[in-house]
Amino acid sequence: MQTKNLTLSTPAANWSLEDAERIYRVKRWGNGYFDIGDSGDINVTPRYDQPDLKINLREVIEEMQSAGIGFPAVIRFHDILRSQVQKLNKTFRNTIEEAQYEGIYQGVFPVKVNQMREVIEEIVHAGARYNYGLEAGSKPELIAALAYNTNKKSLTILNGYKDEEYLRLALLGSKIGRKIVIVIEKYSELIKLVDLAKELNVEPMIGLRVKMMVKGRGKWESSSGERAKFGLTISEILNAVSYLEKVELSHCVKLLHFHIGSQLTDIRAVKEAVQEASLIYSKLYQMDIPLEYVDVGGGLAVDYDGSQSTSDSSCNYGLEEYVADIVYGFKQTCNLESVPHPNLVSESGRAMTAHHSCVVTKVLGEIHPAENEYTTKKTTGEHIIVTNMRDAENALNEQNFQEVFNDISQLKEKAANAFKLGILSLQEMAKLETIYWRTLSTINHQIDELEFAPEELREIPDKLSSQYLANFSVFQSTADSWAIDQVLPIVPISRLNEKPQKRCSLVDITCDSDGKIDHFIGEDEVAKNIPMHQLNKDEDYFIGIFLTGAYQDVMGDMHNLFGRLNEVHIVSYDDDPKDFYIEEVVKGSSVENVLSTMQYTPAILAQAIKKEIDSEIVRGKIKPREGVNLIDFYEECLQGYTYLNI
Ligand SMILES: *Cc1c(COP(=O)(O)O)cnc(C)c1O
Repeated sequence: MQTKNLTLSTPAANWSLEDAERIYRVKRWGNGYFDIGDSGDINVTPRYDQPDLKINLREVIEEMQSAGIGFPAVIRFHDILRSQVQKLNKTFRNTIEEAQYEGIYQGVFPVKVNQMREVIEEIVHAGARYNYGLEAGSKPELIAALAYNTNKKSLTILNGYKDEEYLRLALLGSKIGRKIVIVIEKYSELIKLVDLAKELNVEPMIGLRVKMMVKGRGKWESSSGERAKFGLTISEILNAVSYLEKVELSHCVKLLHFHIGSQLTDIRAVKEAVQEASLIYSKLYQMDIPLEYVDVGGGLAVDYDGSQSTSDSSCNYGLEEYVADIVYGFKQTCNLESVPHPNLVSESGRAMTAHHSCVVTKVLGEIHPAENEYTTKKTTGEHIIVTNMRDAENALNEQNFQEVFNDISQLKEKAANAFKLGILSLQEMAKLETIYWRTLSTINHQIDELEFAPEELREIPDKLSSQYLANFSVFQSTADSWAIDQVLPIVPISRLNEKPQKRCSLVDITCDSDGKIDHFIGEDEVAKNIPMHQLNKDEDYFIGIFLTGAYQDVMGDMHNLFGRLNEVHIVSYDDDPKDFYIEEVVKGSSVENVLSTMQYTPAILAQAIKKEIDSEIVRGKIKPREGVNLIDFYEECLQGYTYLNI
């Protein structure tokens, strides 16, 4: 993968908010919800129809601190969820009207993208007036969807592999008058479904998922094509149709479904899929299959890195273009084929929820290769390699930095060999390393001021970058950053009116060397580090990991038993555009919680410790009062937050 760091050529005195925007691209990934305020803090505009509303994220953090809520924490803006649901539905409605399209739009939210009850409730509520429904892909998701999607006009679409119980649950939904569409992913499901429908005496709404020929582009392109996990081939679809005709249920086939992958980075894949699916729909319709809906699946992408490109964490289109390509694409094919325009369904999950939540965490410290200096004074009898290194440092000026860089790199290599042969002492190595890093830092400052650094010097910022240690777990909060190198925007919450002088990658507090983030917004594609500010003594430095509302919120695991984060829901006031309140606090995992999920019993743990302390008291090693305090402390920690209390 190509990586390139952002340039930091603006001198500190001339640093402006435009420079900060150029580096962090807050507006570009923010989708209208995030920007950098005049105070240098991140602002949130949670309602797209009220652009004057601005919540200062630093003030939210201060309010949380005074309410005693520990960090790291997830901050949710339910207004953003509502806004996204409204935007999607309105865009489809407006485009349908403008295109004089003859079907309607009836979207569903795929529950797997964020199953949190509060999220599902808010989405169902915001979507009620558009008859926006839910999509489920497993039994637990279906059980939740049945209870929450109570609107009889909205769809509940069922994907995923299904056993008899799943199908019975679905038919239960049909019995109570819900619009449940059972999407057949695999031919054998159809036989089971027909038997059960006859037994229970209900007519199901059947969907057929087609295995598309077109491939999505990006990380999820294997979701379609002949090796795809889900869906029926054209011959299976034709066989399914003749089977249903035979059992007199072909009139139950209501929906054609496809899904070519998540995060479709290139709009051309969407266009091609629409072309293919609209033809399949038309041909089936012409065979007297009374399809009413076509479901275009998910895939609407989120521009995580703000590059508006086809890179894996971005996309080269927006919502309007996506919707127009679907609506006009279907209209064109259907008109040519003289079939009715089908109602359109989409299953956009990522785009609905990504923006509404972020993780805020505190930087606890810095790990830097050149942090701790050793004395570099010249001593008699010093080895010539050390002397040469010192001479190289002294010779450095604004013209010869490339040459000096070559010299010190070579000397460092020589020194490593000399050390291995026992020629250099430990003290001499320490001295040499100190001079090396100091010289490299000076060169780095010189090239930072350059508009274009020579190619071979570009690795210097990476070598010198710091690791900022932050109080969070990659495995809990940013699973895709670890699993698939997804870029998530990471930005300091404050001080954006100040030049960030350091390049940093992030490391978390898990005992896992994979617990780090080293993929950031970069100049072309991704960078290995991101500019951050020098940590000030006695001042908290908070950073935000943004766009975590899709998948990241719910896919985290218990690595190192850190567990779920504290959460707050922030709501704006209608009458004061700058004000907000914490509507709800959801406590994160306590140590007791996470240990219990691993089958420990907290009371037994405490007893075991008490027993040992008691026997030390008997032996006179611990005073009784001290013993009581120790056991109290152990119990207090059991009830406490899993993350660092700093
Ligand atoms: C995961 C999934 C979705 C959601 O996709 P997004 O890219 O998040 O919009 C929709 N439909 C199906 C069948 C899925 O498996």
